[in-house]
Amino acid sequence: MIKTDVLIIGGGPAGIITAVTSRATYPNKKVLVIRERKDLLVPCALPYIFGNMLPNTEKDLVPDQHWQKSGAELIIDTITKVDISNKIAHTETDTISFEKLVFATGSVPNTPKIEGVESNGVFTVPKDRDKIDKLKSHIDNLKTDNIVVVGTGFIGVEIAGELLDTGKNVYLIGGSDRVLKNAFDDEFSERIENILVGSGVKLLNKTRVKKIISDEVGNTQAVEFTNGNQIKTEAVILAIGYHPNTQLAKDSGIRVGIKGGIWVDEYMRTDFNGVFAVGDCAEKKNFLTRELSGVMLASTATAEARIVGSSLYGIQYVKGFHGTIGTFSTVMGNKCFSSVGMTEQEAQKEKFDYVTGSFEGVDKHPATLPNTHKQMVKLIAMKRSGILIGGQVTGGKESGELINLISLMVENKMSIYSILTLQVATHPLLTAGPTAYPIIKSAEQINNKINSCLV
Ligand SMILES: Cc1cc2nc3c(=O)[nH]c(=O)nc-3n(C[C@H](O)[C@H](O)[C@H](O)COP(=O)(O)OP(=O)(O)OC[C@H]3O[C@@H](n4cnc5c(N)ncnc54)[C@H](O)[C@@H]3O)c2cc1C
Repeated sequence: MIKTDVLIIGGGPAGIITAVTSRATYPNKKVLVIRERKDLLVPCALPYIFGNMLPNTEKDLVPDQHWQKSGAELIIDTITKVDISNKIAHTETDTISFEKLVFATGSVPNTPKIEGVESNGVFTVPKDRDKIDKLKSHIDNLKTDNIVVVGTGFIGVEIAGELLDTGKNVYLIGGSDRVLKNAFDDEFSERIENILVGSGVKLLNKTRVKKIISDEVGNTQAVEFTNGNQIKTEAVILAIGYHPNTQLAKDSGIRVGIKGGIWVDEYMRTDFNGVFAVGDCAEKKNFLTRELSGVMLASTATAEARIVGSSLYGIQYVKGFHGTIGTFSTVMGNKCFSSVGMTEQEAQKEKFDYVTGSFEGVDKHPATLPNTHKQMVKLIAMKRSGILIGGQVTGGKESGELINLISLMVENKMSIYSILTLQVATHPLLTAGPTAYPIIKSAEQINNKINSCLV
């Protein structure tokens, strides 16, 4: 039997950061991570394996030796059973006793229940090197150029853009009326669609897959949609979301919430004393609405991991995890698109009493400088308090970091009145000018709208 103080099941971003933080907080404790696969991919960079940026999965590996410098140990194995009351976990061949247990078992891709989904040539996008290698090799060896990508969230959109760069004929299929609908309002989605369609992606919104048609040996031949149309293809990539990987937790008697994540409190504690859950497998709440949320992000997973890693043997900082603010970024062509918190559309749906402000300028000053891009910021704030509840950004790649400033403001419930007098570092080659800094200008517009209501 192996003995450890802290056992972490799963060595993705959440497991690794839990291990590093717990070693730093409790240097006398033995911390053991069990991960079922040897190779760990950087999941967020997976789409770039399908284009010209990363030639293969080898270039997307996380080097374990970096985080193992913390003193945490790693064993490649699969935990098959956990006996919570006796504090023992089992693999096929070993048993591990622990004092504290952390589930960091992550998430797995959704597969729709449609006819033909088991055909050869139909793939999801799991965080699993072997499966991604199979998908990549299938695409690289296709005899025809048509590829159908299903799902117009970040992963589908990014993979479609990358495949196009390799000369494939890419169809991007989405059930909703526009791409990235959960993260952006119309004016941003429209720009993303213009870039995608302008570069050659064949975008079919409001379209649902009915079945995958295969030949007599089960190889994919075509996709049929509910409107009766068909596209001939030998490759279908399903990017329609992920669900928490919680079977092991459920089998161990741990409570799982209605969205499928392990129930946790603000310190990531489950119902059982000394047992925690973190990352994609843990239940998420929306920071603003307090409703359960299905948004899973590495940034959220690692924030939770820092909390759990420092609270295993008692709370060190009175700072729990108060919900996901949903901060995203992506790149389309040479433009970034980022979002945090509520979109205007969501604020309307949730009946928040909000007001918006937008500003379009440039990301350098003066605009005559080389490589200057248009830059647009939209802020959404509460009408009465001015508290910021969301923001969206587009611009040159340098604009990507603006969303992190806005995220900080949303998370700290800053109001536009503090933002109006914000002191920001500006430089001609790096940012918009201080007279036209887009976050401040958008806040000014909100202030003007609020003032005009008061008169
Ligand atoms: C294509 C793609 C792009 C993404 N892009 C972004 C992005 O740009 N930004 C962002 O913030 N997020 C992004 N994400 C989301 C992000 O990858 C996840 O939120 C993050 O990986 C969650 O980390 P985790 O450690 O909770 O889970 P996972 O990464 O799923 O890791 C879980 C680990 O647990 C292991 N495991 C499971 N069960 C067992 C068991 N019984 N025994 C041993 N080991 C086990 C698994 O093998 C795995 O290694 C992306 C995801 C994908 C798939």
